[in-house]
Amino acid sequence: MPSDGELMTLTDAAHLGTYRRLPVVIRRAAGVHVWDGEGRRYLDLLSGLGVASVGHNHPRVVEAIRTQAEKVLHTSNLYYNEPQALLAARLSELSGGRRVFFANSGAEANEGAVKIARRYGRGRYEVLTLPRSFHGRTLAMVAATGQERYREGYEPLPAGFRVVEAVDPEAVRRAVGPHTIGVLVEPVQGEGGVHPLPASFLAELAEICRERELLLLFDEVQCGLGRTGYLFAEREHGIRPQIITLAKALGGGVPIGAILVEPHVAEAMRPGDHASTFGGGPLAAAAALAVLEVLEEENLPERARELGAFLGGLLEALRQAHPELVRGVRGKGLMWGVDTAVPAGDVVREALAEGVIVGTAGSHVVRLLPPLVIGQEQLEEGVRAVERALVRAARGQGGEQG
Ligand SMILES: *Cc1c(COP(=O)(O)O)cnc(C)c1O
Repeated sequence: MPSDGELMTLTDAAHLGTYRRLPVVIRRAAGVHVWDGEGRRYLDLLSGLGVASVGHNHPRVVEAIRTQAEKVLHTSNLYYNEPQALLAARLSELSGGRRVFFANSGAEANEGAVKIARRYGRGRYEVLTLPRSFHGRTLAMVAATGQERYREGYEPLPAGFRVVEAVDPEAVRRAVGPHTIGVLVEPVQGEGGVHPLPASFLAELAEICRERELLLLFDEVQCGLGRTGYLFAEREHGIRPQIITLAKALGGGVPIGAILVEPHVAEAMRPGDHASTFGGGPLAAAAALAVLEVLEEENLPERARELGAFLGGLLEALRQAHPELVRGVRGKGLMWGVDTAVPAGDVVREALAEGVIVGTAGSHVVRLLPPLVIGQEQLEEGVRAVERALVRAARGQGGEQG
């Protein structure tokens, strides 16, 4: 068996150098933990990357995959398949009667959502997005993303997207033009630094969309499926977007994305208008079906809400203990960002040395997306490690900090 070091060398020589990887090879995962090849255990406060909401390798998900793999791995969408039928019906039911389309990733779900909006728009095509947003890495989603660093060097980008000037209702009103068909937002912005959109802003946004006959699209690829305390953001805010996109946590580790569409909008789509070879394939759909069952049976959205209050308290205490290192904490449910005075990447590396995995969301935000099955003691253990990591990262910089 190749050693961890050998695997890292092979990867770095053969794969495109697109990832700034940490020097860990993950060989095994279960619940809130992952292990490297030397048997070292890590507490994963990032859930892979917002994926393992039900915990890594949840036995129900693994069993669903195993069972399905023995029956049929792939059928194309020229035919019907059982897990897709059951998953579509379940997602439709959970989202109050929306129609469903399956993709393979978040970016692809968002692309499909924009295609649906354009079909529905009959000539209106422009989609507004927000500063600090992130919608994926395809060319169109890079155009939709409201952060310069994801677009640089990829011009010319597809037309039909406009980033409004500020997270502000008046800025949205000003940006609406004759060709605008909708507004795409993350109810809690993830990659852009973990910024929950204010409830008042979302309410006004819904009002603007009603007034101007625009579609409201929620990108819940990261914040959805219980992470922020509700299965969907509409349950928290009492706002009904016409389109919701999902991915990350949906498959419990298997790639799958979904677009949930209000029936009157879905009617714009006819046979041949959109398709995916793998989308809604039996293996991924069986995994997602198991994930939805676990979310429900283990009451994970509610658990995320309760644990979120607890984690928010721990992080606020951290800020008060180190005001010179922590400039602010933001979040909701089990989705948090810690604004740091030191580079967030240094904190991530120091935490890893403590056996705790956290992430970044921009240069100076440490991001926490723990599995929703985590316990209070593990959150305490994790935040203590982040605290030590912060202090060491600051020392490494020659900064103070007592
Ligand atoms: C991760 C993410 C995406 C992109 O998902 P991929 O599966 O990587 O294509 C899109 N939107 C949001 C909000 C995300 O967090």
